[in-house]
Amino acid sequence: MTRTVYVNGEYLPETEAKISIFDRGFLMADAVYEVTSVLGGKLIDFEGHAVRLERSLSELEMKAPCTKEELLEIHRKLVELNGIDEGLVYLQVTRGSAGDRDFVFPPEDTVPGLVLFTQNKPGLADSPAAKKGAKVISIEDIRWGRRDIKTTQLLYPSMGKMMAKKAGADDAWMIEDGHVTEGTSNNAYFVKDGVIVTRPLSNDILHGITRKAVLRMAAEAQLKIEERLFTIDEAKEADEAFTTSASAFVMPVVEIDGVALGDGTPGPIAKRLREIYLEESVKTAI
Ligand code: PMP
Repeated sequence: MTRTVYVNGEYLPETEAKISIFDRGFLMADAVYEVTSVLGGKLIDFEGHAVRLERSLSELEMKAPCTKEELLEIHRKLVELNGIDEGLVYLQVTRGSAGDRDFVFPPEDTVPGLVLFTQNKPGLADSPAAKKGAKVISIEDIRWGRRDIKTTQLLYPSMGKMMAKKAGADDAWMIEDGHVTEGTSNNAYFVKDGVIVTRPLSNDILHGITRKAVLRMAAEAQLKIEERLFTIDEAKEADEAFTTSASAFVMPVVEIDGVALGDGTPGPIAKRLREIYLEESVKTAI
């Protein structure tokens, strides 16, 4: 089945979808994005993603391409047209094209670009990777200073994943000024003596939609949470660790820089939070 995608008002087969070579998303990564997961044909935490998108757009003085209600409609239609039961909806908004390349922002009336596509991922919730747990390496964080804005500047995270792959690992955690910021595409946590530790929100990390939900659920489950800076050495000495993201939910981490955590298998708190998160999210999916 050919995938149907959405580009600037039209639903098209992916092979027919086009954007301008002068689109600033393409030329300058002048674009923001969101990834929303789909379970049982429904969107997980659409509201959270829509609110963060609005914030990313406003921080960059970028125009919203349409209303939240219209975005929801497009998400749902793509899920339906592509028969997605489990998978992801990727959305990207660009500052559009002024018909040429220029560093200066295009005129006010430039139409923003809007692109959405789905990824079909059967077995997303019951993932073998989550049963095994992930191995991570640590790398330096050399990204720009506004990581709270979800821009499409993903070259360094992509390089980080490649560094991990070359080292025989699954992902990388990034370190700045001696402290872990986050994973290449997820927020990072460790657990020591029953306390969940994660970096506090600031411009240094993405404000994960899954992070917010998981911390709320952890608090409801009477688990102790400390939002503070932490080093990679602390994480290596942890009982267990995990990451959160909209596409992988709660992912146990079993090894950091070659050091096995606990007995080297997914820890009980990570497993429990994954279960709670999936159960709760499916219940409130729309
Ligand atoms: N940090 C980074 C750098 C990310 O790319 C992501 C995933 N987009 C996250 C954290 C997790 O955010 P969310 O839970 O909203 O997917």
